[in-house]
Amino acid sequence: MAQKDFYAVIGVNASATAEEIKKQYRRLAKQYHPDTNRGEAKAAERFKEISEAYTVLGDAAKRKQYDEMRRLGAFDPSAPRPRGSSRSGAASHMGGSPRGARADDFDAGGFGGLGDIFSSMFGGSRARPGGPEKGQSVETTLEVPFKIAAIGGKVPIELEVNEACGTCGGNGAATGARIQSCAECDGRGTISFGQGGFAVTRPCPQCLGKGSVPSEKCASCNGAGASRSHKKVLITVPQGTESGSKIRLKGQGGRGVRGGATGDILITFQVKPDAAYEREGLDLIVQAPVNIAQATLGSKISVLTIDDRRVTLSLPRGTPSGKRFRVRGQGITHGGKTGDLLVQIFVIVPETLTAEQERLMKQFAAAGALEY
Ligand SMILES: [Zn+2]
Ligand SMILES: [Zn+2]
Repeated sequence: MAQKDFYAVIGVNASATAEEIKKQYRRLAKQYHPDTNRGEAKAAERFKEISEAYTVLGDAAKRKQYDEMRRLGAFDPSAPRPRGSSRSGAASHMGGSPRGARADDFDAGGFGGLGDIFSSMFGGSRARPGGPEKGQSVETTLEVPFKIAAIGGKVPIELEVNEACGTCGGNGAATGARIQSCAECDGRGTISFGQGGFAVTRPCPQCLGKGSVPSEKCASCNGAGASRSHKKVLITVPQGTESGSKIRLKGQGGRGVRGGATGDILITFQVKPDAAYEREGLDLIVQAPVNIAQATLGSKISVLTIDDRRVTLSLPRGTPSGKRFRVRGQGITHGGKTGDLLVQIFVIVPETLTAEQERLMKQFAAAGALEY
């Protein structure tokens, strides 16, 4: 039944990282593997339990759904088991369909189907059953090329969103169907187990928390009220974006249930490093290679700005490697200020010399009393 807490099964905190879960799972799987515990029923059962838990916790998307259901109290380990169902029965529901879900399906094993529905139905916040609910808000990290982050631009993104079915608006009913109060939960949308201070309330598995059931199901979503869709959104990256900065696109997420507001998209930017440019506050640093003649005798060099314009820089005689030259106003513009472009020189020393170059270099060294 629903009491199985996958985190407890694997023996990690609910806040454990994916890496910690993987490590712990591997350790346990090795310990209880049937090959090393021949004929031991308890070990086999434990191994099955661990594998089942890891199928969910080891998958980022499934884990998120599971966490959501867990938050709603679906797997409260302190809850009494209703209807005398047994723990071992859970595995037989693996991959169970949400269609016509009975109370017994509302367990860890059946969650493969139900999880989607619940995360969609409840979004981030628990709403009053039967009323409009805000659609799913999707959070994601977007990698942005260095140059676009610096000068601003657009980056396309594709997201998977759980949202209300477009045909029925999320109530799961066919057009013209009668909506009846759910008999399982008496229209409350929730079922309570236990008594007094120990009572645990969970979403009703029959009506999926809606409190009502249609006389005929919507054909598009088979009564689930939810669908999973791919959204393509062109994200505008503001000028001067830094790694870790966030934007919220209101109303770009999942469609709301029963006329509820559309969810949001929350983006955290991650700026990709660039081979040529680096950033220091609003200043940009660009590496500029020069040869020994340019560094020694002085030269005019051409440098590319971040927005692909060329600026000319006069190097004085005797420019050492690592020296920086400031080109004003060619950095990042953000918050009404503009930084500079710092051109950092690095001198390229020839790796091989012709016989003549070598003779002349030795002559050069002798003339300046350079030791080598
Ligand atoms: Zn529908
Ligand atoms: Zn119900």
